[in-house]
Amino acid sequence: MLIRNGIVLTQDPSLGELPRADVLVEGDTIAAVGPNLSAEGAQVIDAEGDIVIPGFVDSHRHTWETSIRTCAPDYTLGAYFAGILDKFAPHYRPDDVYAANLWGALECANAGITTLVDWSHIMNTHEHADEAIRGLQESGIRSVFAFGFPNTSLQDWWFGPDYAGSVLEIDGDLARRLRSEYFNSDDSLITMALATRGTNFCREEVVRNEWELAKELGLNITVHVAMYRFGYTKMQLTKLKEMDLLYPNTTYIHSSHLLPDEWAMVRDSGSNVSYAPQIELQMGHGWAQAVTARDYGVPIGLSSDVATTASSDQFTQMHAIFASERARRYEIAWDENLEWDQPESKLITSRDVLAMATIGGAQVAGIADRTGSITPGKKADLVIIDGHAVNVAPVIDPVGAVVCAADVSNVDTVIVGGTVLKRDGKLVADLKGPLQRVNASRDYLVSKIDQPAPGWLPAAVTA
Ligand SMILES: [Zn+2]
Repeated sequence: MLIRNGIVLTQDPSLGELPRADVLVEGDTIAAVGPNLSAEGAQVIDAEGDIVIPGFVDSHRHTWETSIRTCAPDYTLGAYFAGILDKFAPHYRPDDVYAANLWGALECANAGITTLVDWSHIMNTHEHADEAIRGLQESGIRSVFAFGFPNTSLQDWWFGPDYAGSVLEIDGDLARRLRSEYFNSDDSLITMALATRGTNFCREEVVRNEWELAKELGLNITVHVAMYRFGYTKMQLTKLKEMDLLYPNTTYIHSSHLLPDEWAMVRDSGSNVSYAPQIELQMGHGWAQAVTARDYGVPIGLSSDVATTASSDQFTQMHAIFASERARRYEIAWDENLEWDQPESKLITSRDVLAMATIGGAQVAGIADRTGSITPGKKADLVIIDGHAVNVAPVIDPVGAVVCAADVSNVDTVIVGGTVLKRDGKLVADLKGPLQRVNASRDYLVSKIDQPAPGWLPAAVTA
């Protein structure tokens, strides 16, 4: 397959931005990038005037919540625990997880997200795990299945007896079974990670056992830290350091209130952060501190977190972090010195933001060796953005066009591992069956909630 004459934003520092170039795909792999490539007999995709980027990476999403999309637009994070994790999650059947994961992963393909880290903490039975994986498999996208724990009771799984932390652990035997049954290769389209709760929500012995499980199975850990009032003063990284559990390649999600020495711990342990800026702003986690992470040299990925409260595409995340982090820096600068007029010194740029949504996300997902940039030898995970669209043309700075102008409607073509999942703005997959399933799942889950009517969220949890 030859993608011809596109504006190619490789996200590979050695290749840079190519104003007019071709991308040659052989099998599932990028074979060459550059102007005037020849490939006899290749299927040609004309990208004249369009923008070719590596597929986006969503580095943390609770995909099982897709079937209750936007049920909680006004929630704080505190309300989310009570309203979503305590009310909805216990009712989930394996079928609901399958329907949500398939629909959410198809949504990714449509939005140009070629890799999804599915933070799957809905492992209420063994079958829930199998069905979560089946949903990802059938979508055709690349994913990291971050195996978690059940959500059968808020108190049991998040706060434990007397709110002193959970005494319940991730099911190690199930983790071992999934690892050998589905994920015995770390090179497959779907790979595995461990989604844990950490020191904020669990007793020390639980934390230790779960970190040791990750080590035993050779899995990267992904954990929420330093968010909202739960994480404001708890010093979770400090605690992990005391326990000697600062593993490399760990993803610290949100990280809104890390202390300076904790940032050094993230850096020194070779770990990374995943920001969900739209959700963090809306629900009260804190700022997505991209400048701080950048100053420490910590890789940054973007993520959509929960479909219950905001849209799940990477354009939304790019807009949110671009605006909020610049707003934060302007305010800091003017608080320090009203004469300050050198914004370039500390502001993030559109190029920073596009990197977070692509190669940064791939680093966070732990698979930058195979995706996240248009580099010969990497898997062909590619997206073509329509440069002729009414909201994108005329193109002057192509990075500006992607970060500041484009949206999901401009995702013309999506390729994952050499397989075309979307072409001419339409998904190849038939959406009819998956739509029926996710709607039926929605109907079932909503019927299980006390006040199933418009405005039905209990007032107590919206406060
Ligand atoms: Zn999350």
